Amino acid sequence: MATRFIFITGGVVSSLGKGLASAALGALLQARGYSVRVRKLDPYLNVDPGTMSPFEHGEVYVTDDGAETDLDLGHYERFTGVAATQSDNVTTGRIYSDVLGRERRGDYLGGTVQVIPHVTDAIKKFVTADLHGEDFVICEIGGTVGDIESLPFLEAIRQLGNELGSERAMFVHLTLVPYLSASGELKTKPTQHSVMELQRVGIRPHVLLCRCDRPIPDGERNKIALFCNIRPEAVVPGLDIDTIYQVPIEYHEQGFDTQVLNHFKIDPGAQPNLDTWREIVGRIREPDGEVNIAVVGKYTDLPDAYKSLSEALAHGGISNHARVNLDWIASEIFDTEDTVEHLNGVHGILVPGGFGERGAEGKIRAVQFAREHKVPYFGICFGMQMAVIEAARNLAGLSGAGSTEFGPCGDPVVGLMTEWQRGEETEQRAAGDNMGGTMRLGAYPAALGDRTHIAEIYGLSEIAERHRHRYEVNINYRDVLEKAGMTFSGTSPDGLLPETIELEDHPWFIGVQFHPELKSKPFEPHPLFKSFVAAALDQSRLV
Ligand code: GLN
Repeated sequence: MATRFIFITGGVVSSLGKGLASAALGALLQARGYSVRVRKLDPYLNVDPGTMSPFEHGEVYVTDDGAETDLDLGHYERFTGVAATQSDNVTTGRIYSDVLGRERRGDYLGGTVQVIPHVTDAIKKFVTADLHGEDFVICEIGGTVGDIESLPFLEAIRQLGNELGSERAMFVHLTLVPYLSASGELKTKPTQHSVMELQRVGIRPHVLLCRCDRPIPDGERNKIALFCNIRPEAVVPGLDIDTIYQVPIEYHEQGFDTQVLNHFKIDPGAQPNLDTWREIVGRIREPDGEVNIAVVGKYTDLPDAYKSLSEALAHGGISNHARVNLDWIASEIFDTEDTVEHLNGVHGILVPGGFGERGAEGKIRAVQFAREHKVPYFGICFGMQMAVIEAARNLAGLSGAGSTEFGPCGDPVVGLMTEWQRGEETEQRAAGDNMGGTMRLGAYPAALGDRTHIAEIYGLSEIAERHRHRYEVNINYRDVLEKAGMTFSGTSPDGLLPETIELEDHPWFIGVQFHPELKSKPFEPHPLFKSFVAAALDQSRLV
């Protein structure tokens, strides 16, 4: 069948979970046997979120093909299993930079370059490009209806709605139905106003997905339908639930999939197969055991900064039938307080990716605690670099070991690499390069050594994982570190870039230069997270 487009907008307030809604709808349509692709249009002016602080924007999600994208792309992949690509996320900044680039080249042949049609054409082209016969494209529009900056996107999808016709395009609007405790009522007015705002730009929603903290009675549902000019069945409640992986099941129970298929005049046929989701939710709700993992990082007050990581740890729990409790520790605390006070009794320690010197010494101390107390340790990207510095200083006796990310040091065991191979090509960067897009980004292969712990965990000798970093562990320190007990268990295929390290004399101590959390899914937990949580469970039986 021809590809159908479902556009998802949001109203009333931000943070209603449009990303999750898009991802879960994708999973639900897949459960009915359809193929899907989920995309996001982001209204801000940054060319991509790569240069934005996690405090601003949460995690930067990296795709196999090296795009630095919005964290919602992570939800899409975790729910649908479809690997996102460069062509699944675009910002206003990128659209304008492309249009302006073309203007400078003279591609517009002397014409006046305008938002309509040039910017909107570029947006429409993006939405409809690079498709491979998917049954449905779900396209989320970032921001909230009424924002000035999302207007070109709304105009572009309005045009697409006309061009494709209602048999190939559908609009879903996510709103909030708040409960006012003072009057004891659910309020529909914000939804009415938000739909009016959407209609003002020419878009009439076909389904309203209404976030609410309690069931929406028929009275309110009918009222929303009446005032918003849609059928009551098309007002779909999106109720708060205990686990995000219940959302596809919930949407089906509320009839969201039926509304979508009805809109496109597709015979709903058999019920969707939601067994996998039921199994996942069952394991989350009724675990057999639990472990406590300390995550020692920088952005610990902001859960969105480590979204994929916390999900991947939860996936490790799902595969082990265990609940994983996360203890977020800001590493700077170890500048003044003892590690024992905070880390004693935890069943696993994880140092995630990070940038900059602040808090680095605290992370190194956390590594030291894990190594000396034989607590399972998982170092991801920066966390691997800190583990190498710790081993260099405390096992190999290189007291001046450090990373050049923090300035010059006696033994730069972590340093800036200016040249590396990707397949047949040599890629380069220099110290003074632009900050955007100049890291080692995306999937790179790694060769895992025979008889190493990591090769045993993966059950493979060659892997490909996603990267996002500027600095590398310096291969020239391999001999001295291996003599001290740290194995370089995986490297780039040419042997020049250390990709993974492990300690011999330790129950579970692994560092990886890549981000395995980006590829973990609830229905396919990443082997490293599965194994780390299993090791933490073993540890919990000891302490
Ligand atoms: N700051 C380090 C680097 O750029 C690590 C990056 C990361 O953890 N993602 O190499």
